[in-house]
Amino acid sequence: MKKQFVLKSRPVGKPAESNFETRLIELPNIAEGEVRLVAHTFSVDPYMRGRMSDAKSYIAPYQIGEAIVGGVVARVAESKAENLKVGDYVLGMLPWQEEMVVPASGLQKVDEKIAPLSYYLGILGMPGLTAYFGLLDICKPQKDETVVVSGAAGAVGMVVGQIAKIQGCRVVGIAGDDAKVDYILNQLNFDAAINYKTTANLDADLAVACPSGVDVYFDNVGGEISDAVVARINKGARISICGQISLYNETTQPVGPRIQPTLLKRSALMKGFIVSNYAARFPEGFTKLAEWVGNGQLKYNNTNYKGFEKLPEAFIALFEGKNLGKLIVEV
Ligand code: NAP
Repeated sequence: MKKQFVLKSRPVGKPAESNFETRLIELPNIAEGEVRLVAHTFSVDPYMRGRMSDAKSYIAPYQIGEAIVGGVVARVAESKAENLKVGDYVLGMLPWQEEMVVPASGLQKVDEKIAPLSYYLGILGMPGLTAYFGLLDICKPQKDETVVVSGAAGAVGMVVGQIAKIQGCRVVGIAGDDAKVDYILNQLNFDAAINYKTTANLDADLAVACPSGVDVYFDNVGGEISDAVVARINKGARISICGQISLYNETTQPVGPRIQPTLLKRSALMKGFIVSNYAARFPEGFTKLAEWVGNGQLKYNNTNYKGFEKLPEAFIALFEGKNLGKLIVEV
């Protein structure tokens, strides 16, 4: 029997461990074209909060009593598929199970020799690609422009800031912890960083950090942090709406300032996106990210939880800011 996590109930507000339930399941025998996988590393991601609710979104909700599904790197333990052999590692959207029998189609082979397996869930995977396309395609940052990124010490944010540095920009990060601020300033060479939880005055700190205003804003969090950044945008600014994590656990929609007059007066562009919009260009993004990782221009950090049973706790930790970089669960 193998362990599985299912959605027990839909969270109201912040998710709790009681929203998840462990079950024991028996695996079927594998059929032609299928593989049996042993989970190696699980990704926990903020978008999964959206799938726990039944509100209409770009991706279907999890169903009560069914396995949570997310990004997983797993080892092939048995194979009846031509393209995969025992010992290969694969990446897929897979259930939160210790082991699983799934069709080989839809799995992507990953190579430990190119990068550590966890990187396929982070900098060389969905979060890295999100940073790459959300920044470069939507915001088109130019040399010497000021780029502000919120959620700056997270999986997406730390890549955004470093890519902006590679483009020759002045980079300002906003994060919720002194150790994170220290990391992005001193390890990733951001030009300025603000702890939004301890600042006495975010507007004043932004004014100091962005003396020439804000040309690009990569928004991972929304809410009051974004209100403060948008108030400082320059003429022709570009705003990429990547995530709104500060609002994901809200039970009512908070009302903020009306920002349309600012966008109008500054001839600014604001655009939301989902990384899968860029699926056709993923090979381009992967190649560039791998090059920058390879030549040391992009650094990366994971926060690792250990053990299958830690999955719910690790997921909830995203909403408590406990991660520096990509949050993963190693089995
Ligand atoms: P992450 O930043 O690694 O982890 C989440 C971080 O969000 C936490 O560490 C915490 O950092 C911050 N946070 C949590 N609650 C907050 C709040 N109330 N206010 C402000 N910050 C808060 O996660 P990620 O995977 O890189 O994702 C970052 C954002 O991008 C999320 O909003 C996610 O939904 C979005 N995203 C979008 C796409 C897309 O296709 N559009 C793809 C991937 C991710 P602090 O300590 O700094 O508070």
